[in-house]
Amino acid sequence: PKSHAGRIALVTGAASGIGKAIATRLAAEGACVVIADLDLGKARAAAAQLGGTDVAIGVAANVTSESDIQAGIQEALLQFGGLDLIVNNAGLSISKPLLETTEADWDLQHDVMAKGSFLVSKAAAKVLIEQGLGGDIVYISSKNSVFAGPNNIAYSATKADQAHQVRLLAAELGDHGVKVNGINPDGVVRGSGIFAGGWGAKRAAVYGVPEEELGKYYAQRTLLKREVLPENVANAVAVLTSADLDHTTGLHIPVDAGVAAA
Ligand code: NAD
Repeated sequence: PKSHAGRIALVTGAASGIGKAIATRLAAEGACVVIADLDLGKARAAAAQLGGTDVAIGVAANVTSESDIQAGIQEALLQFGGLDLIVNNAGLSISKPLLETTEADWDLQHDVMAKGSFLVSKAAAKVLIEQGLGGDIVYISSKNSVFAGPNNIAYSATKADQAHQVRLLAAELGDHGVKVNGINPDGVVRGSGIFAGGWGAKRAAVYGVPEEELGKYYAQRTLLKREVLPENVANAVAVLTSADLDHTTGLHIPVDAGVAAA
């Protein structure tokens, strides 16, 4: 049997990149999936690739808006009759040195990733608690929540905020059978709108490699010498939320092909 048969998942930022791969994998495992993203047309197009509206629907939800999130969750409840699994994946990346990072940069980064995932988790947890059937909340945090690198203060600080939300919510929601875990990806260049939208060019300049070589550059500095793809992150989400890991909460799984100690 499929590992997620009968489960109902909502993935934020799932019209692109890692989120889209997560939605695809969860649907392949038998889940019904709600694809939430900024643009309704893109969310619906991504959902349509997974099958009919009995399998996946697209909703427009800006994670910084409590009312958008409530509406997205209501659509999930109406369409599929429940909610079991939420993935906080929506994100963007402002990559600047400290002295160039503005207050507006800091606020936007924290609005979308720290406040946004807090609001999504809060709204989802209310439903999970009321249903009384347990569930999963997953955060797509980052290797940058743990390791420090240059030119990344706003992004990395908010990823560290998300990592602590995982621990705090694992502690608070355990009584309700809700598991809360995180994934720390790194170097997912291919398919990522964040990389294509300017961050890739900036990172390539920092490392002194052509942008089109960035994926290979990241791969050669990993322990496994492997490029990390959106599907690798999606696999980790599927395993983490499967019955095989139903005694695991408050954990972060790296999906980075291995980081050297020094
Ligand atoms: P992506 O740009 O392809 O996907 C991000 C999605 O989030 C987009 O579809 C975007 O429209 C959506 N989004 C942005 N702001 C939103 C908002 N306010 N409300 C709702 N949706 C919003 O990029 P990606 O690389 O797939 O990133 C997905 C997540 O993975 C992000 O949280 C990112 O920080 C994290 N991550 C990525 C990498 C990597 O190497 N690509 C590494 C570590 C962590």
